[in-house]
Amino acid sequence: KTFCKKIPKIELHAHLNGSVSLQTLHKLSELQSPADAKSQIIHEIHPSESLKEGFKLFEIVHSLTDTPEAIFIATCDVIQEFYNDNIIYLELRSTPRHVEGKMTKKEYIEAIINAIKSPETKRTGITVKLLISVDRKRGEKNAEENIALAIEYYEKYSEYVVGIDLSGDPTQGEISINLLQRARNVGLKIAAHCAEVPNEKEVVDILNFKPDRLGHCTCIHPNLNGTKQLYDMLLKSRIPVELCLTSNVKCKTVPSFSEHQFAYLYEAKHPICIATDDKGVFGTTLSEEFELVAIHFGLTQQNLKDLCLSAVQYAFTTEEEKSQLSLKIELFYNSN
Ligand code: 5GP
Repeated sequence: KTFCKKIPKIELHAHLNGSVSLQTLHKLSELQSPADAKSQIIHEIHPSESLKEGFKLFEIVHSLTDTPEAIFIATCDVIQEFYNDNIIYLELRSTPRHVEGKMTKKEYIEAIINAIKSPETKRTGITVKLLISVDRKRGEKNAEENIALAIEYYEKYSEYVVGIDLSGDPTQGEISINLLQRARNVGLKIAAHCAEVPNEKEVVDILNFKPDRLGHCTCIHPNLNGTKQLYDMLLKSRIPVELCLTSNVKCKTVPSFSEHQFAYLYEAKHPICIATDDKGVFGTTLSEEFELVAIHFGLTQQNLKDLCLSAVQYAFTTEEEKSQLSLKIELFYNSN
Protein backbone atom coordinates (compact mmCIF):
# COMPACT_ATOMS: atom_id res chain seq x y z
CA LYS A 1 0.00 0.00 0.00
CA THR A 2 2.65 2.50 1.02
CA PHE A 3 4.70 1.39 -1.99
CA CYS A 4 1.84 2.26 -4.38
CA LYS A 5 1.62 5.67 -2.73
CA LYS A 6 5.35 6.27 -3.00
CA ILE A 7 5.70 5.48 -6.72
CA PRO A 8 5.90 8.66 -8.85
CA LYS A 9 2.73 8.29 -10.93
CA ILE A 10 1.19 9.63 -14.13
CA GLU A 11 -2.53 10.52 -14.15
CA LEU A 12 -4.03 10.75 -17.63
CA HIS A 13 -7.79 10.56 -17.03
CA ALA A 14 -9.16 12.94 -14.40
CA HIS A 15 -12.30 15.07 -14.82
CA LEU A 16 -11.86 18.27 -12.85
CA ASN A 17 -15.29 18.50 -11.24
CA GLY A 18 -15.42 14.77 -10.55
CA SER A 19 -12.04 15.05 -8.81
CA VAL A 20 -13.07 17.70 -6.28
CA SER A 21 -12.84 16.30 -2.74
CA LEU A 22 -15.55 16.50 -0.12
CA GLN A 23 -13.30 18.81 1.88
CA THR A 24 -13.12 21.30 -1.01
CA LEU A 25 -16.88 21.04 -1.58
CA HIS A 26 -17.39 22.05 2.04
CA LYS A 27 -15.04 24.96 1.57
CA LEU A 28 -16.87 26.07 -1.59
CA SER A 29 -20.29 25.78 0.01
CA GLU A 30 -19.16 28.01 2.85
CA LEU A 31 -17.98 30.59 0.34
CA GLN A 32 -21.32 30.60 -1.44
CA SER A 33 -24.12 32.79 -0.23
CA PRO A 34 -26.57 31.71 0.86
CA ALA A 35 -24.74 28.60 1.93
CA ASP A 36 -27.60 26.95 3.79
CA ALA A 37 -29.30 24.50 1.40
CA LYS A 38 -26.11 23.60 -0.45
CA SER A 39 -24.21 22.55 2.62
CA GLN A 40 -27.16 20.39 3.54
CA ILE A 41 -26.81 18.59 0.20
CA ILE A 42 -23.08 18.14 0.74
CA HIS A 43 -23.70 16.36 4.01
CA GLU A 44 -25.62 13.83 2.00
CA ILE A 45 -22.98 13.27 -0.65
CA HIS A 46 -21.31 9.96 -0.44
CA PRO A 47 -19.37 8.30 -3.21
CA SER A 48 -21.57 7.25 -6.10
CA GLU A 49 -22.94 3.72 -6.47
CA SER A 50 -24.24 3.74 -10.07
CA LEU A 51 -23.72 5.48 -13.40
CA LYS A 52 -26.94 7.45 -12.95
CA GLU A 53 -26.10 8.48 -9.39
CA GLY A 54 -22.58 9.42 -10.47
CA PHE A 55 -23.93 11.80 -13.08
CA LYS A 56 -26.35 13.29 -10.51
CA LEU A 57 -23.40 14.02 -8.22
CA PHE A 58 -21.69 16.01 -10.98
CA GLU A 59 -24.68 18.36 -10.91
CA ILE A 60 -24.21 18.98 -7.20
CA VAL A 61 -20.51 19.66 -7.68
CA HIS A 62 -21.32 21.96 -10.61
CA SER A 63 -23.70 24.00 -8.45
CA LEU A 64 -20.74 24.74 -6.16
CA THR A 65 -18.23 25.51 -8.92
CA ASP A 66 -20.24 28.14 -10.74
CA THR A 67 -17.86 31.13 -10.55
CA PRO A 68 -14.28 31.63 -11.78
CA GLU A 69 -13.15 31.92 -8.14
CA ALA A 70 -14.68 28.57 -7.24
CA ILE A 71 -13.13 26.93 -10.32
CA PHE A 72 -9.74 28.39 -9.36
CA ILE A 73 -9.99 27.07 -5.79
CA ALA A 74 -11.26 23.66 -6.95
CA THR A 75 -8.43 23.31 -9.48
CA CYS A 76 -5.72 24.36 -6.99
CA ASP A 77 -7.03 21.87 -4.41
CA VAL A 78 -7.34 19.01 -6.91
CA ILE A 79 -3.78 19.58 -8.13
CA GLN A 80 -2.49 19.69 -4.55
CA GLU A 81 -4.28 16.44 -3.69
CA PHE A 82 -2.84 14.66 -6.73
CA TYR A 83 0.58 15.99 -5.78
CA ASN A 84 0.15 14.66 -2.23
CA ASP A 85 -0.52 11.24 -3.78
CA ASN A 86 2.82 11.48 -5.63
CA ILE A 87 1.48 12.25 -9.08
CA ILE A 88 4.29 13.88 -11.03
CA TYR A 89 2.34 14.51 -14.22
CA LEU A 90 -1.38 15.27 -14.33
CA GLU A 91 -3.74 15.76 -17.25
CA LEU A 92 -6.97 17.37 -16.08
CA ARG A 93 -9.96 17.50 -18.38
CA SER A 94 -12.94 19.78 -17.97
CA THR A 95 -16.07 20.99 -19.75
CA PRO A 96 -16.17 24.81 -20.04
CA ARG A 97 -19.41 26.08 -18.53
CA HIS A 98 -21.34 29.26 -19.10
CA VAL A 99 -23.30 30.27 -16.00
CA GLU A 100 -25.64 33.19 -16.70
CA GLY A 101 -24.51 36.31 -14.87
CA LYS A 102 -21.66 34.52 -13.12
CA MET A 103 -19.13 33.02 -15.51
CA THR A 104 -18.35 32.78 -19.21
CA LYS A 105 -16.69 29.75 -20.80
CA LYS A 106 -13.54 31.83 -21.31
CA GLU A 107 -13.44 32.81 -17.64
CA TYR A 108 -13.90 29.15 -16.79
CA ILE A 109 -10.89 28.07 -18.89
CA GLU A 110 -8.76 30.97 -17.67
CA ALA A 111 -9.50 30.13 -14.03
CA ILE A 112 -8.13 26.63 -14.61
CA ILE A 113 -5.06 27.92 -16.46
CA ASN A 114 -4.44 30.45 -13.66
CA ALA A 115 -4.54 27.63 -11.11
CA ILE A 116 -2.06 25.60 -13.19
CA LYS A 117 0.21 28.65 -13.45
CA SER A 118 -0.18 29.66 -9.78
CA PRO A 119 2.88 29.83 -7.50
CA GLU A 120 1.18 27.26 -5.27
CA THR A 121 1.18 24.72 -8.12
CA LYS A 122 4.62 25.70 -9.39
CA ARG A 123 6.07 25.13 -5.93
CA THR A 124 5.07 21.47 -6.02
CA GLY A 125 6.95 20.72 -9.25
CA ILE A 126 3.98 18.71 -10.61
CA THR A 127 3.38 19.14 -14.35
CA VAL A 128 -0.26 19.84 -15.19
CA LYS A 129 -1.95 19.95 -18.59
CA LEU A 130 -5.54 20.64 -19.60
CA LEU A 131 -7.86 18.89 -22.03
CA ILE A 132 -11.02 20.77 -22.99
CA SER A 133 -14.02 18.47 -22.76
CA VAL A 134 -16.94 18.20 -25.13
CA ASP A 135 -20.11 16.90 -23.44
CA ARG A 136 -21.90 14.66 -25.96
CA LYS A 137 -25.26 15.47 -24.31
CA ARG A 138 -25.03 19.17 -25.16
CA GLY A 139 -25.21 18.84 -28.93
CA GLU A 140 -23.08 19.82 -31.89
CA LYS A 141 -23.35 23.61 -31.59
CA ASN A 142 -22.00 23.47 -28.06
CA ALA A 143 -19.32 21.00 -29.17
CA GLU A 144 -18.20 23.35 -31.93
CA GLU A 145 -18.03 26.21 -29.45
CA ASN A 146 -15.80 24.19 -27.08
CA ILE A 147 -13.58 23.03 -29.93
CA ALA A 148 -13.13 26.64 -31.11
CA LEU A 149 -12.20 27.65 -27.54
CA ALA A 150 -9.75 24.76 -27.26
CA ILE A 151 -8.07 25.89 -30.48
CA GLU A 152 -7.97 29.52 -29.30
CA TYR A 153 -6.38 28.62 -25.94
CA TYR A 154 -4.05 26.06 -27.51
CA GLU A 155 -2.72 28.83 -29.73
CA LYS A 156 -2.21 31.08 -26.68
CA TYR A 157 -1.11 28.52 -24.10
CA SER A 158 0.12 25.39 -25.87
CA GLU A 159 2.21 24.62 -22.81
CA TYR A 160 -0.99 23.98 -20.82
CA VAL A 161 -3.86 23.26 -23.21
CA VAL A 162 -2.96 20.09 -25.05
CA GLY A 163 -6.07 18.25 -26.12
CA ILE A 164 -9.78 17.61 -26.41
CA ASP A 165 -11.78 15.05 -24.45
CA LEU A 166 -15.06 13.64 -25.71
CA SER A 167 -17.14 12.70 -22.67
CA GLY A 168 -20.54 13.19 -21.01
CA ASP A 169 -23.28 10.78 -19.98
CA PRO A 170 -22.92 7.88 -22.45
CA THR A 171 -26.64 7.11 -22.25
CA GLN A 172 -27.64 10.55 -23.51
CA GLY A 173 -27.03 12.35 -26.79
CA GLU A 174 -24.50 11.70 -29.48
CA ILE A 175 -21.80 13.73 -31.18
CA SER A 176 -20.07 12.78 -34.40
CA ILE A 177 -16.42 12.24 -33.49
CA ASN A 178 -15.48 13.69 -36.88
CA LEU A 179 -16.28 17.14 -35.46
CA LEU A 180 -12.99 16.85 -33.56
CA GLN A 181 -10.96 16.75 -36.77
CA ARG A 182 -10.66 20.55 -36.69
CA ALA A 183 -8.91 20.38 -33.35
CA ARG A 184 -6.63 17.63 -34.51
CA ASN A 185 -5.65 19.65 -37.59
CA VAL A 186 -4.09 22.36 -35.43
CA GLY A 187 -2.16 19.88 -33.27
CA LEU A 188 -4.48 19.21 -30.33
CA LYS A 189 -4.50 15.59 -29.14
CA ILE A 190 -7.77 13.67 -28.88
CA ALA A 191 -8.96 11.48 -26.01
CA ALA A 192 -12.39 9.89 -26.47
CA HIS A 193 -14.60 7.98 -24.04
CA CYS A 194 -15.49 4.79 -25.80
CA ALA A 195 -17.88 1.86 -25.26
CA GLU A 196 -18.96 2.74 -21.71
CA VAL A 197 -22.35 1.34 -22.71
CA PRO A 198 -23.01 -0.96 -25.70
CA ASN A 199 -23.11 1.12 -28.91
CA GLU A 200 -21.46 -0.67 -31.78
CA LYS A 201 -21.85 2.04 -34.40
CA GLU A 202 -20.33 4.71 -32.18
CA VAL A 203 -17.41 2.45 -31.25
CA VAL A 204 -16.65 1.73 -34.91
CA ASP A 205 -16.80 5.45 -35.74
CA ILE A 206 -14.48 6.28 -32.84
CA LEU A 207 -11.96 3.56 -33.71
CA ASN A 208 -11.97 4.63 -37.37
CA PHE A 209 -11.24 8.21 -36.28
CA LYS A 210 -8.17 6.91 -34.38
CA PRO A 211 -8.10 9.17 -31.30
CA ASP A 212 -4.76 9.40 -29.50
CA ARG A 213 -6.25 7.70 -26.44
CA LEU A 214 -9.51 5.99 -25.50
CA GLY A 215 -11.38 6.06 -22.19
CA HIS A 216 -12.73 2.88 -20.56
CA CYS A 217 -13.66 0.59 -23.53
CA THR A 218 -15.83 -1.31 -21.06
CA CYS A 219 -18.24 -2.96 -23.51
CA ILE A 220 -15.68 -4.46 -25.87
CA HIS A 221 -15.19 -8.06 -24.82
CA PRO A 222 -12.97 -10.66 -26.45
CA ASN A 223 -15.46 -13.49 -25.88
CA LEU A 224 -18.87 -11.94 -26.27
CA ASN A 225 -21.04 -12.31 -29.34
CA GLY A 226 -21.14 -9.09 -31.28
CA THR A 227 -18.19 -7.41 -29.61
CA LYS A 228 -15.40 -9.84 -30.56
CA GLN A 229 -15.05 -8.00 -33.86
CA LEU A 230 -14.79 -4.67 -32.01
CA TYR A 231 -12.22 -6.19 -29.68
CA ASP A 232 -10.08 -7.31 -32.63
CA MET A 233 -10.41 -3.85 -34.13
CA LEU A 234 -9.33 -2.26 -30.82
CA LEU A 235 -6.28 -4.52 -30.46
CA LYS A 236 -5.27 -3.86 -34.04
CA SER A 237 -5.54 -0.08 -33.49
CA ARG A 238 -2.91 -0.10 -30.68
CA ILE A 239 -4.64 3.01 -29.25
CA PRO A 240 -3.85 3.31 -25.52
CA VAL A 241 -6.85 2.80 -23.24
CA GLU A 242 -7.29 4.68 -19.95
CA LEU A 243 -8.67 2.25 -17.35
CA CYS A 244 -10.50 3.38 -14.21
CA LEU A 245 -11.34 0.36 -12.06
CA THR A 246 -13.19 1.92 -9.12
CA SER A 247 -15.24 4.17 -11.37
CA ASN A 248 -16.40 1.27 -13.56
CA VAL A 249 -17.21 -1.03 -10.65
CA LYS A 250 -19.04 1.72 -8.70
CA CYS A 251 -21.01 2.69 -11.80
CA LYS A 252 -21.78 -1.01 -12.23
CA THR A 253 -20.66 -1.05 -15.86
CA VAL A 254 -18.27 -3.82 -14.77
CA PRO A 255 -19.56 -6.45 -12.28
CA SER A 256 -16.37 -6.82 -10.19
CA PHE A 257 -12.69 -5.86 -10.08
CA SER A 258 -11.53 -9.28 -11.21
CA GLU A 259 -13.82 -9.07 -14.26
CA HIS A 260 -12.52 -5.65 -15.26
CA GLN A 261 -11.30 -5.23 -18.85
CA PHE A 262 -7.86 -4.63 -17.37
CA ALA A 263 -7.54 -8.45 -17.22
CA TYR A 264 -7.78 -9.18 -20.92
CA LEU A 265 -6.25 -5.95 -22.23
CA TYR A 266 -3.21 -6.46 -19.99
CA GLU A 267 -2.89 -10.07 -21.01
CA ALA A 268 -3.14 -9.09 -24.69
CA LYS A 269 -0.35 -6.55 -24.06
CA HIS A 270 -2.57 -3.78 -25.39
CA PRO A 271 -1.31 -0.27 -24.39
CA ILE A 272 -3.13 0.75 -21.19
CA CYS A 273 -2.80 3.15 -18.29
CA ILE A 274 -4.45 3.28 -14.88
CA ALA A 275 -6.42 6.38 -13.88
CA THR A 276 -8.93 7.69 -11.33
CA ASP A 277 -11.63 9.24 -13.57
CA ASP A 278 -13.39 11.13 -10.73
CA LYS A 279 -11.49 10.70 -7.48
CA GLY A 280 -13.95 12.88 -5.52
CA VAL A 281 -17.19 11.38 -6.76
CA PHE A 282 -15.93 7.78 -6.61
CA GLY A 283 -13.84 8.20 -3.45
CA THR A 284 -10.50 6.91 -4.73
CA THR A 285 -6.87 7.87 -5.33
CA LEU A 286 -4.40 6.80 -8.02
CA SER A 287 -2.42 4.90 -5.36
CA GLU A 288 -5.53 2.93 -4.50
CA GLU A 289 -6.12 2.15 -8.19
CA PHE A 290 -2.55 0.82 -8.42
CA GLU A 291 -3.16 -1.26 -5.34
CA LEU A 292 -6.32 -2.70 -6.87
CA VAL A 293 -4.53 -3.90 -10.01
CA ALA A 294 -1.70 -5.29 -7.89
CA ILE A 295 -4.13 -7.23 -5.67
CA HIS A 296 -6.62 -8.44 -8.27
CA PHE A 297 -4.24 -9.22 -11.10
CA GLY A 298 -1.08 -10.17 -9.19
CA LEU A 299 1.10 -7.35 -10.51
CA THR A 300 4.62 -7.07 -9.10
CA GLN A 301 6.45 -3.85 -8.24
CA GLN A 302 8.28 -4.23 -11.56
CA ASN A 303 4.94 -4.57 -13.42
CA LEU A 304 3.71 -1.37 -11.74
CA LYS A 305 6.88 0.40 -12.81
CA ASP A 306 6.30 -0.72 -16.40
CA LEU A 307 2.74 0.63 -16.22
CA CYS A 308 4.08 4.02 -15.06
CA LEU A 309 6.75 4.12 -17.73
CA SER A 310 4.32 3.26 -20.51
CA ALA A 311 1.83 5.87 -19.25
CA VAL A 312 4.59 8.45 -19.77
CA GLN A 313 4.68 7.47 -23.43
CA TYR A 314 0.90 8.03 -23.81
CA ALA A 315 1.00 11.50 -22.19
CA PHE A 316 0.14 14.49 -24.36
CA THR A 317 3.50 16.18 -23.90
CA THR A 318 6.88 16.68 -25.50
CA GLU A 319 9.58 14.01 -25.85
CA GLU A 320 11.82 16.08 -23.60
CA GLU A 321 9.25 16.15 -20.80
CA LYS A 322 8.65 12.42 -21.25
CA SER A 323 12.37 11.73 -20.76
CA GLN A 324 12.36 13.75 -17.54
CA LEU A 325 9.32 11.91 -16.21
CA SER A 326 10.79 8.50 -17.06
CA LEU A 327 13.98 9.49 -15.31
CA LYS A 328 12.08 10.37 -12.12
CA ILE A 329 10.43 6.93 -12.16
CA GLU A 330 13.75 5.16 -12.80
CA LEU A 331 15.42 7.11 -9.98
CA PHE A 332 12.67 6.13 -7.56
CA TYR A 333 13.01 2.46 -8.44
CA ASN A 334 16.79 2.56 -8.21
CA SER A 335 16.60 3.86 -4.67
CA ASN A 336 13.76 1.59 -3.44
P1 5GP B 1 -16.11 18.60 -15.60
O1 5GP B 1 -15.98 18.38 -17.08
O2 5GP B 1 -17.36 19.37 -15.24
O3 5GP B 1 -14.89 19.17 -14.99
O4 5GP B 1 -16.23 17.14 -14.93
C1 5GP B 1 -17.45 16.43 -14.80
C2 5GP B 1 -17.96 15.99 -16.15
O5 5GP B 1 -17.06 15.02 -16.73
C3 5GP B 1 -19.30 15.24 -16.10
O6 5GP B 1 -20.38 16.14 -16.10
C4 5GP B 1 -19.25 14.40 -17.36
O7 5GP B 1 -19.61 15.15 -18.50
C5 5GP B 1 -17.77 14.05 -17.48
N1 5GP B 1 -17.50 12.73 -16.89
C6 5GP B 1 -17.00 12.48 -15.67
N2 5GP B 1 -16.87 11.15 -15.47
C7 5GP B 1 -17.29 10.55 -16.60
C8 5GP B 1 -17.38 9.19 -17.01
O8 5GP B 1 -17.07 8.23 -16.29
N3 5GP B 1 -17.86 8.97 -18.27
C9 5GP B 1 -18.21 9.99 -19.09
N4 5GP B 1 -18.64 9.68 -20.33
N5 5GP B 1 -18.12 11.27 -18.74
C10 5GP B 1 -17.68 11.56 -17.50
